[in-house]
Formats: sequence, C-alpha cells, structure tokens
Amino acid sequence: MSQRIAIVGAGQSGLQMALGLQARGYRVTLLSNRTPEQIRAGKVMSSQCMFDRALQTERELGLNWWDDACPPVQGIGLAVPHPEQRAAKAIDWAARLDRPAQAVDQRLKMPAWMDAFVARGGDLRIVDVGVDELEALTREHDLVLLAAGKGEIVGRFERDAARSPFATPQRALALTYVTGMTPSTPFSRVCFNLIPDVGEYFVFPALTLSGPCEIMVFEGIPGGPMDRWSDARTPEAHLEESLRILRTYLPWEAERCEDVALTDANGILSGRFAPTVRKPVMTLPSGRVVFGMADAVVVNDPITGQGSNNAAKCCKVYLDAILAHGGRPFDADWMNATFDTYWQYAQCVVTWTNSLLTPPPPHILGLLGAAGQSPVLAARIANGFDNPPDYFPWWTDPAACQQLIDQQLVKAA
Ligand SMILES: Cc1cc2nc3c(=O)[nH]c(=O)nc-3n(C[C@H](O)[C@H](O)[C@H](O)COP(=O)(O)OP(=O)(O)OC[C@H]3O[C@@H](n4cnc5c(N)ncnc54)[C@H](O)[C@@H]3O)c2cc1C
Repeated sequence: MSQRIAIVGAGQSGLQMALGLQARGYRVTLLSNRTPEQIRAGKVMSSQCMFDRALQTERELGLNWWDDACPPVQGIGLAVPHPEQRAAKAIDWAARLDRPAQAVDQRLKMPAWMDAFVARGGDLRIVDVGVDELEALTREHDLVLLAAGKGEIVGRFERDAARSPFATPQRALALTYVTGMTPSTPFSRVCFNLIPDVGEYFVFPALTLSGPCEIMVFEGIPGGPMDRWSDARTPEAHLEESLRILRTYLPWEAERCEDVALTDANGILSGRFAPTVRKPVMTLPSGRVVFGMADAVVVNDPITGQGSNNAAKCCKVYLDAILAHGGRPFDADWMNATFDTYWQYAQCVVTWTNSLLTPPPPHILGLLGAAGQSPVLAARIANGFDNPPDYFPWWTDPAACQQLIDQQLVKAA
C-alpha cells in the first residue's frame, strides 16, 4: 500500500489511527505540538474513563497495554443529596457494568504510543500545525486527518449550529488526581453525584504515572459555588477546594477522602469549553480538503465521560472506511459519507450528554429514582455508558420511559 496519510494530533484518536494504519502498511506522518517527554511532564488532560466497546477497538489493534496494571472500574452508581436532610441521599443506587471500564492517564498512554509509532518506523514531527502546514501536508499526502482535539486550529472547521445547541460552556470543569482514597464497596465504580442547581461530581479508580489513583471530576454550573477554581492558585489550594466542595455538599464522599494526597503537582486541571459539533471537511485556501476526526468535530461536555470513547470509536469507523476505500482518492464526498457513518452513532452521545447539562425533566427524575427500586433498570442505565444508542428512544420520550420503568418495576416486584 503506497498511500500516504498525515494525522495532526497525537491524542486518543490520532495515535490509535496512526498505529492502526501503520500496522496495515500505510506510510503515516504524525504531527504533534508536544514531544512525548513534554506530555509526560505536563498537566493531566482528562479523566479518560473508557468502557468496553471503546477498549475493544484498542484490543483489536493490540494497543491494550495496561490491562493488568490499571485498576478496573466495575460499575456505576448515582447519588443525589436529600434536599432537606444533611448527609442523607434522595437517590442512591449502584449497578455493575457487564464488562469493566478503565482509565489510563493520557500522560502515560500517549507518550508510550508515540514511542511505539517511532520505533515501528513512523514519521513523527513536532510542530504546531497551522494553515500553512496543512497546505503543505495536503500536497504531500493522499489524506490529511485533523485530530487536534480542542486545539485552536479546529476552530477552522465550520460550527454546525443546527447540531450545537450551546454557544457557551455549560460547566466549569476540574480534575484532581489523588492517592489514599477509601475504595467504594462492594465493587469499584464511577460514583456519580448530582447536586441540583450546583453541579456534578464523579470519582473512580485509574492508573497514573506513579501507579493506581482515584480521579475526582468536578462539573460546576458556571458562576455557582462549584466554580471557584480561579482562586485556587497552587496545587495544594486546588486539592483544598476539591475537599471543600465535598465537605459542603457530599459528606459521604468527603469521608472517603480523609487521607488523600495529590498524585503529583501536575495532577490537577481546571477549564471550560462549549460542547460543539462542526462540519467535518475543512477547505483550505488552495481548495484542497482536510478531514476532521473525534473531538475536533464532535466535542462533548465530559459529564458523561464519553470523549475518549468517542475518539476510539470514531477512529474505528474512519480506519475501516480508509481500508475499504482501497487506492481511490479521498475526496470531500468520501469524507462527508464517512463522517455520516460516525454521526449515526455520535448523535446519540451528543443528545444524551447535552440532556444532562440542563435541569432534568420529570421523566428522567422518575427514571433515576425508579432505578433505586429495580437493579435491572439500574444496570440498564449503567451499561448505557458503554453504548449510548441503547438509551433511545426512552431517554428523550417520556411515554417510552414510563413504559420501561413500568416493565422493570413489575419484574422487580
Ligand atoms: C475534564 C475532562 C474530563 C474528561 N473525562 C473523560 C472521561 O472520563 N472519559 C472519556 O471518554 N473522555 C473524557 N474526556 C474527554 C477526552 O479526554 C477527549 O475527548 C479525548 O482525549 C479526545 O481525543 P482526541 O483524539 O479527539 O483529542 P486529544 O486526545 O485532545 O488529542 C489532541 C492532540 O492534538 C494536539 N494538538 C492540538 N493542536 C495541535 C496543532 N495545531 N498541531 C499539532 N498538534 C496539535 C494536542 O496537543 C493533543 O495531543 C475528558 C475531558 C476533560 C476536559
């Protein structure tokens, strides 16, 4: 196979694609604005919890190198504080995932994949790619994929206003990587806490540079009491702010944190961005085209922990389409058709994720409450994280939702 493919961005999707194409004999150029060493020595970027179907796309490419070292995430739980009684919960359930999830710190994973790409003969170039570089790449390659995540360059893809209901960030985000947290029992899980009018907090086990850890994820409603990260100017202050939030709103989570410490001074992050869908084809001044993948074209709020899952699944769709296309030219029609295949899946993730960013409608409150009475319903909700299309139609259709609840409650009775 003599086709040449350039990939801009060495994150989940770009690296998975680079290694996948390389294994099939393509000549791949990978461009990253950071070296492996800079990524390893930098700040955490994500909480990157990946569920089984996304992990399967890595296994298919032989890239599942941390299965033994990474603590499994065995389930998902939901708690909602009681509106009047302090330290009591209005909703409280947990269910096992059919197959475990895992979260490997991207500071560990991406440099290891980059090193492997180079060791296998790949052409890795360290450059912050702009329009001039894209022009040069499209001259030298049969296909240029832009997998630059939330990098500034992705703003050159046209925003798809019809598919992007939010123009501004919906949550103030923060990550705190810690050791020493009391594990959840009787199984490890994403402990998801929903604090009405304030925000969300979830926490789960993961693997970081120094070994196992827990990742705390904060999703504060902008301007609210969980949006004070700019006052936390040191890593210690960031940890203290994390613990303040738990002590104030989620005492059962604070109890687990009596002996926590930061994994490292870079184990923290805060920021915000607007969830956005973009048109997948960028036309350069020369008229040549660039194809966007993963977060570059469909970026979701992390509230449902789907971004790395989407990146892996988008890579699978695109890789299969490239292989099936053979030696034919990669034109804009092929790009739009390939993106449409991915969008058939991704639209469910977008709709579900966006639905959690606004106050829940009565049927969703009823569903989340009913899951406390029905382990089967709880398991159905938990396992939807692995395959969000399973939430439809009942997540958005009150009648279908009530029907599901009634069926499951009858079974549970
Ligand atoms: C707080 C937070 C929590 C999250 N939690 C989860 C979770 O639990 N589960 C989950 O699945 N997802 C989660 N995500 C999302 C997930 O991390 C991303 O969706 C995923 O990494 C996207 O993969 P990607 O390949 O599109 O881009 P990225 O992994 O972001 O990679 C893009 C790469 O491109 C590089 N780049 C950018 N611009 C340029 C340029 N001009 N030239 C060269 N290189 C460039 C960047 O340096 C980066 O290395 C979370 C995100 C955040 C912010």
